[in-house]
Amino acid sequence: MSRFMHPQYASLKAYVPGEQPRDRSYIKLNTNESPYPPSPAVLRAINAEEASRLCLYSDPENRGLKEGFEKLYGISSDRVFLSNGSDDILNFAFMAFGADGVVFPAISYGFYKVFAERNGLNYEMIPLCTDFSIDPTAYFNQQKMVVIANPNAPTGIALDLDDVERIVKENPNHVVLIDEAYVDFGAESARCLIDTYDNLLVVGTFSKSRSMAGARLGFAFGNSAIISDLEKLQYSTNPYAINRLTQAAGAAALEEDSYYIENCRRIQDTRALTADGLAALGFEVLPSSANFLFARHPAVDGLTVYQRLRENGILVRHFDAPLIQDFNRITIGSREEMIALLEAMRAIVTKEATV
Ligand SMILES: *Cc1c(COP(=O)(O)O)cnc(C)c1O
Repeated sequence: MSRFMHPQYASLKAYVPGEQPRDRSYIKLNTNESPYPPSPAVLRAINAEEASRLCLYSDPENRGLKEGFEKLYGISSDRVFLSNGSDDILNFAFMAFGADGVVFPAISYGFYKVFAERNGLNYEMIPLCTDFSIDPTAYFNQQKMVVIANPNAPTGIALDLDDVERIVKENPNHVVLIDEAYVDFGAESARCLIDTYDNLLVVGTFSKSRSMAGARLGFAFGNSAIISDLEKLQYSTNPYAINRLTQAAGAAALEEDSYYIENCRRIQDTRALTADGLAALGFEVLPSSANFLFARHPAVDGLTVYQRLRENGILVRHFDAPLIQDFNRITIGSREEMIALLEAMRAIVTKEATV
């Protein structure tokens, strides 16, 4: 830290993203990207004509994207917020709604803690149940902002919509943020509840199910009052948060939703095949509604699995954290990639198993 840095950031620990190494080519199953390219209309939308308009600012109101969401989900523009990745939206939401503190699960998206610290907020982390699920009743009547990823990460376990609704209902005086980064892979979205509850904020991303991690585009749904709070903070930071090419790509993606629904279905099939294969090798695999699996082997520790896979050219995500250090989070790639993963796992288990 330089001597010029504001002292309030002295103890801030930044989020550590999954590695993007360039030393060799890997089968990349470590950052939950899609194995499929964006849809044909997206590839057509980012053309030379659009690029030539980069001399002009992008539309700060994101009208094309908002119209796309209105057409797709029937949610009007005043109830949609967009920004440069959903991480950006999460940060604005913590900033806007965390005055009384924030509560989230002890095992969840690692960024929540960083956003809380970065914004100087008190936070509390609630342990998961022993089966790694979330107990919804533990989040009732919290008297602070509640943040839950549904499905949760890195476990992949989803809450039912009824349970999400109960949490929202039981915290009427604080925002309940449901982070739906993985909802399209098998959970139910809470976006249908935004008219009923003025304290619900549903956050989503184009990075996972819509194959656009590199474009940086996130969205949120909520009642118009909380959406304008977020817009106020965005307009106080960077009104042109989304670039023209990403706006064009995102609007085109919303027009071709069936392409992405089909990709999610394929990923669910590949997920089932991978989970079965891992179970046959003796792995314990948590029930996933996401585009990844969280798995551990009773006789090979998690770090060894991670390292041996890496030596074999396969990247997965290992978290050196209490209770989960024997797990690895494995993104669902293409069928071929997952067959290669299972072959590598078979060799590792055969060689490394300690019992
Ligand atoms: C990937 C992810 C995000 C961030 O998505 P971006 O839109 O790429 O910033 C947010 N929340 C969770 C739980 C994620 O896994």
